[in-house]
Amino acid sequence: MTKANMNKIKVGVSSCLLGDKVRFDGGHKQNQYVMNTLSNYFEFLRFCPEVASGLSIPREPIRLVLKNAEIKCVGTKNEDFDVTDKLKNIADEQKFWQSQISGYILKKDSPSCGMERVKVYNGSMPERNGVGIYAQKLMDNFPNLPIEEEGRLNDLVLRENFIQRVFVYARWQLLTTTAFSLNDIQQFHAQHKYIYMSHDQIMLKKLGALLAKPCECLSSLAASYISQAMVLLKSRATKSNHANTLHHIQGYLKKHISQDDKQELCETIEQYNQGYLPLIVPITLLRHHFRKYPNEYISNSFYLCPHPSELMLLNSV
Ligand code: SF4
Repeated sequence: MTKANMNKIKVGVSSCLLGDKVRFDGGHKQNQYVMNTLSNYFEFLRFCPEVASGLSIPREPIRLVLKNAEIKCVGTKNEDFDVTDKLKNIADEQKFWQSQISGYILKKDSPSCGMERVKVYNGSMPERNGVGIYAQKLMDNFPNLPIEEEGRLNDLVLRENFIQRVFVYARWQLLTTTAFSLNDIQQFHAQHKYIYMSHDQIMLKKLGALLAKPCECLSSLAASYISQAMVLLKSRATKSNHANTLHHIQGYLKKHISQDDKQELCETIEQYNQGYLPLIVPITLLRHHFRKYPNEYISNSFYLCPHPSELMLLNSV
C-alpha cells in the first residue's frame, strides 16, 4: 500500500459499538469516534459473538466465573447456562474473514468481547483480571492483529498507537498477499524503520539483524519479522525516542538547509521533547524542508505521514 493507494482498511468491530441493538438488554453502545471518524478510513466488519452463537435479544446477562480453576462464561442467574464453548467455537468459525482484517475494536468489560480487566467472579467479590472468551480466542488465533478496546481509544496515545499499528499491518498484508521477495521485506523495513525507532531502538536493531541473516525460508522469516514488528509497535513511542528519530531524519537535510534553519529545527524538536509542542509541529517543519529538498529514502518512509493527517493523531502526542 503506497501513500497514494490508501483504500479503506478492513477492521472488525463489536457490533454494539456501531449502534446495533444486540446487547443482552436489547440496547447498543454506539461509540461516536468509531462511528463518525474512524468509519471514514476503516471499512467495519461488525460481529456480535453472543448473537452469532444463537443467544437471543434480549437474553439473560452472562459473566465470567472461576470454576475448578477454569474461567467459564455463564448466566448471572443460572450458572448451568454455560456459553463458554459456544463463544470459543464461534470465534474459530470466523477465521476466514478475520484473516482479512487489519485491526479489531472490541467492547470493553464484556465477558465475550472485553480485551482485558473483565470482571471474573469467584464467590461474591469479582476481580478485574479476565479476558472475554471470544476476545481471547481472537487474540490466540491472530496474535499479530492490532486489537484495541473502544474505552482505551479515549487515551490519545493509545489511540495513535492502535491506528498506527492498523496502518502498518494493512501495508504488510497487502505486501504478503501476493508473491514477495526478501527485497520486498527489506524495503518494507526501510519504509518503517523510523516508526520502529520511535518505539524501541533495541528491538529495531533486532529486526534489522533478523533481515541481515542468510534467509533459508522466506515464509518463516516473514512470519518472524511481522510478529516481532507488531510486538515492537505495541510498546509506546516515547517523546525521547521520537526526538532521537526526528534528529536522525534532520540529518538528511544537513547539506541543504542554513544554520538558522538547523537551529530552528533543533529547538523545535527540543520543545517537543520537553512537552511544550505536539509532535505535529517538528514533523510539519521537517515536511516543509523535505518539500524543498526531497530525499528519496525519506519520501518512501512512513514516519512523517504514518496515517491520514485528517485524523489529527499527531496533534495530541
Ligand atoms: S459486547 Fe460483544 S457480545 Fe456483547 S453485545 Fe457487544 S458485540 Fe455483542
